[in-house]
Parts: sequence; structure tokens; C-alpha cells
Amino acid sequence: MKRSNTPSKLSPQRGARIALLLSGCCAVCTLTVTGLLPRPLFDALFLCGLLVLSARRIRVVLPHMTPRQREWLYVWVYVPLFCFFLPGSALWRDTEAGLGERIRTPAYVAVAFLFIAAHIFYFLYKNKPKMRKKIVAGNWKMNTLPAEGAELAKGIVAQRATAPAEVNFIVCPPFTHLSQVAEALKGSNIALGAQNCAAEEKGAYTGEVSAAMIAALGCRYVILGHSERRQYYGETSETLNLKMARAYAHGLTPVYCVGENLEEREAGKHFDVVKAQIEEVVCNLTPEQFADLVIAYEPVWAIGTGKTATADQAQEIHAFIRKVLADKFGAAAAETPILYGGSCKPSNAAELFAKEDVDGGLIGGAALKAEDFLGIGQGFAK
Ligand code: PEP
Repeated sequence: MKRSNTPSKLSPQRGARIALLLSGCCAVCTLTVTGLLPRPLFDALFLCGLLVLSARRIRVVLPHMTPRQREWLYVWVYVPLFCFFLPGSALWRDTEAGLGERIRTPAYVAVAFLFIAAHIFYFLYKNKPKMRKKIVAGNWKMNTLPAEGAELAKGIVAQRATAPAEVNFIVCPPFTHLSQVAEALKGSNIALGAQNCAAEEKGAYTGEVSAAMIAALGCRYVILGHSERRQYYGETSETLNLKMARAYAHGLTPVYCVGENLEEREAGKHFDVVKAQIEEVVCNLTPEQFADLVIAYEPVWAIGTGKTATADQAQEIHAFIRKVLADKFGAAAAETPILYGGSCKPSNAAELFAKEDVDGGLIGGAALKAEDFLGIGQGFAK
């Protein structure tokens, strides 16, 4: 007989869990039928089981839903409580009946409703891609003195509430500012990043700063492959492969930058340039590393020039980047945040961020003023 090569979806652990659950159910039913388990206890166990199963279904699909869809889900969770259970148990006709009797029927109706709603949401959303992180990252470049940087960070923390809560803000000051800025960000939900790290682990590399050092100062992110570093410091895919490895080894999430210059854009080579920058570095990552990556598309001709790619241009190339990623990493590419960078400001952020594959921005000049930086984050609310 021919054996199927398709691996079974039922792992031994899952099989054991199901067997345990079924035996538990049989035991409880037998005990109840024989009168050894009081009926209220049976009801409580049965309803708790359904609640746990509903909660597990809901937990699986939450990351696949937009905040608006989640609000609706919560409404449907509260509906059975307020419509069936509370009025049902309070208004039960037979006032002589004990509490157990009075709450049984409404409890069954409410839990059944919740169980059905949880499964409807589960089947609607389980196959949808997870919601990508929305990110606004500030690249301060070689600007501000340490004390000014700390003030800027404090200003961003103080005004954080003006931008939508679901936006993840990251600030990337110069190395010299990291400690003070880390201190200023303490207790906030704004993350710290660095603008670069060394390709080597440690040793006689005068002037370099290692991934371990920036991680020790509280950085969670590191910008790698920024066009200014490729252009002025000769950074190549070879060095970037080493830097990526160092970043991951120290628990940092790389914000890997790609983008073409004006000449390449005018010659219609932008797709090839960006594809090569991704294939030579990102395609060398393991699936686990890839799951922890942010990409920034930054057309060099738009950086610090006041010229912005149009929203359609950005969407076109972001979708292309996602396809290149999907060709290598499959469905996981749907979850990679791809940021746009290049003269992004509060006035053009909303239009850019409205595009399907634009998940936020890497911001240079406008990241140096707290209101502008957060104002860009407000682009997600419009
Ligand atoms: C950058 O350098 O990453 C950048 C996007 O700069 P700007 O916003 O000033 O164009």
C-alpha cells in the first residue's frame, strides 16, 4: 500500500492533549449521570470548557485583525453578557428556584452565543495575513548635541499621546546620545535604535561601535545600509551581511535600507537595483531572522532634497519589494513592515501611509522636531 508523504497535522503532543480532553469529558459525564458529580458542578465545568475554547479561538485571530475589527469583536463578546446573562438571571420567573437554577439557562445561552461568535470570527480571519506593525522611525543623523537630543526625546515622550497608540515610534540618535536618550525614553513606549553598528564583534577596530555595545545601551533596532553609508563610507552587501549577523546575534532588529539614485531611476533601473540590494543581503537570512526585520525603501533622490516619491510610486516599489521577499520567504513576507523614507513630513504622510504596502516611514529632517515627528505618526489616523 502506498504511504502518503504529506506530514500529519496531528502532532503527538496535540494527539495526547485531545485524548486527555476526551477522557476528561467522558469521566465528567459518567460522574454526572451516576449522580456522583452534582449538576451545578457539571454546568460550571462544561461552561468553563466552552469559554476556554472560545478564548483560544479569539486569541489566534486577534493579530490578524485591524483595531476597528477588534472593537467589533469585543462588542460581540459583551453582547451575550449584557443581553442574555445579566437580565436573564435577574428576571428569571421562578423566584423560588435556587441561584443555580436561575442562572443555568441564561448562562448556557450566553456561552453558546459567545462560542458561536468566536468560531465565526475564527473562520473569517484565521487565513488573513497578520496586521503589520506600523512604524515611524526617526534617523537623527549627525544632528543635535547630547543634551539637545535628550530634550528632543523628552519632548517626543511628552507629546506621544497626540499620535495613534498603535503606531510604533523609534528614535535613532547618534551613538554619543544613546545613554541620555535611553534615560529620557524610560517608561515610555518609544523604542531606541542606533544608526549603524560594526561588522566585527570586538577588538582593534578604532572608532567602531559594536552591536553588543548599542544593545547594552538599550537599543532594540539598528539602521543598516542607509544610502549615506553606502555612498560615503563604501558600505557594500558584503559588509552589510556581516553587520546583519552581528545585529541578530545581539537581539537587535535591523532596519535595512534599500533605494536607487536619480540616475538609476531615470534609466528605469530602480526595480533591478532594489532587487539586488535585497537578494544580496536579506535573502541570506534564516526564516527566524527574516521574521524580525524592517525594510526601509528610501529613494536616494528624495532624501533631504524636499522631493518625495508620489504615493503611487512608493506603493509600486513597496509591492515589488514584498514580492521579491515572498519569492524567497513565502507568506512571511506579508508581515514584514516596509517603511518609506525621503522627505516624508506631516503634510504628505497620510497619503503615503494610506497605501497598502507602505507601513510607515523612516524620517530624517522632520524627526528633529517632536511635533513634526509625531505629526507624521498622525498620518495613520487620517
Ligand atoms: C533619511 O535619511 O533616512 C531620510 C529619509 O531623510 P529625510 O527625511 O530628511 O529625507
